[in-house]
Amino acid sequence: MRSCDHTAPRAWVDNAVRLIDADAQRSADTHLLRYPLPAQWQVQLYLKDESTHITGSLKHRLARSLFLYAICNGWITEGTTVVEASSGSTAISEAYFAKLLGLDFVAVMPASTSPQKIALIEAQGGRCHFVQRPPDMYTEAARLAAECGGHYMDQFTHAERATDWRGNNNIAESIFEQLALETHPVPEWIVVGAGTGGTSATIGRYIRYRRHATKLAVVDPENSAFFGGYETGDSGYQTGMPSRIEGIGRPRVEPSFVGQVVDRMFEVPDAASIAAARYASARLGRRVGGSTGTNLWGVFALIGEMIAEGCSGSVVTLLCDGGDRYAGTYFDDDWVASQGLSLAEPTAILDKFLATGIWDA
Ligand SMILES: *Cc1c(COP(=O)(O)O)cnc(C)c1O
Repeated sequence: MRSCDHTAPRAWVDNAVRLIDADAQRSADTHLLRYPLPAQWQVQLYLKDESTHITGSLKHRLARSLFLYAICNGWITEGTTVVEASSGSTAISEAYFAKLLGLDFVAVMPASTSPQKIALIEAQGGRCHFVQRPPDMYTEAARLAAECGGHYMDQFTHAERATDWRGNNNIAESIFEQLALETHPVPEWIVVGAGTGGTSATIGRYIRYRRHATKLAVVDPENSAFFGGYETGDSGYQTGMPSRIEGIGRPRVEPSFVGQVVDRMFEVPDAASIAAARYASARLGRRVGGSTGTNLWGVFALIGEMIAEGCSGSVVTLLCDGGDRYAGTYFDDDWVASQGLSLAEPTAILDKFLATGIWDA
């Protein structure tokens, strides 16, 4: 009788899953902050503060899910080198989990990546490998992984499937639980941006699964392909251009973006994202990142509609990461000017909105 055994030693896998679960067990959930709005509007706005994860952004959730998915699929085991194509927050969070598991981690990134980000990855023991042309990141990451018998994590393919969208304390379940005792516990809208599209996929599926009336809006920055892909229904839509708003906006519609669960999309100018990030930072007393500004621009447009229609309710968005990472960019007037951007017009729109409830963009 022929027999063949490819069974990998299970002890490493068992311990790896335990280490990731134990890390989650030691961690607190992120806060759902109230964003102050005039009481007479009868609209409540909440920000899910993802900046308080240990690695500083919502990519902490993604990295945890990607590692569990790859380990339970048998793709990562003892001694596997983990490789990822990422110019930022995902690599920082994945480097953290690789270190937790004692695995080597290589981030493949554009040569133009900021020294702060490189330092954060290296501080977690990760190695950075650079490519001259950003579009070469993916093939280079796959090549490197094949060369060393490692695993290419591939966030832009796996983000939508690595997270348990039905629950298991995903971001959607957490939001609805935290809203339970509010005036309007089922929000009218949840507003998010898309980088991998994983967060919007999780929230959109969860809303349907739990039969909530909530609608999902996705905001997209300049030069990103998601808006055009959604508008034309073409998943092959490309702009080929990088986004200036870090974490969101992609040159192509990524495979992990699930447009079918998105109820509405907004195209947000970069100056508006930056103006809104600064505006919210002043309001909250601490800096938020650029993609949080993009979220808020979409939120205010929707709240403006709710006010015009005399509709009360709640709206939820994400504080994706803090603004301290962007002191030299979005919060630096010289950088803003060097990009040919002016914040005067979007700031005037925000001022008028907060004073009158009229959204005039
Ligand atoms: C990744 C990221 C997003 C978008 O989340 P996805 O789930 O990848 O679509 C938004 N903001 C920041 C700062 C990010 O790093």
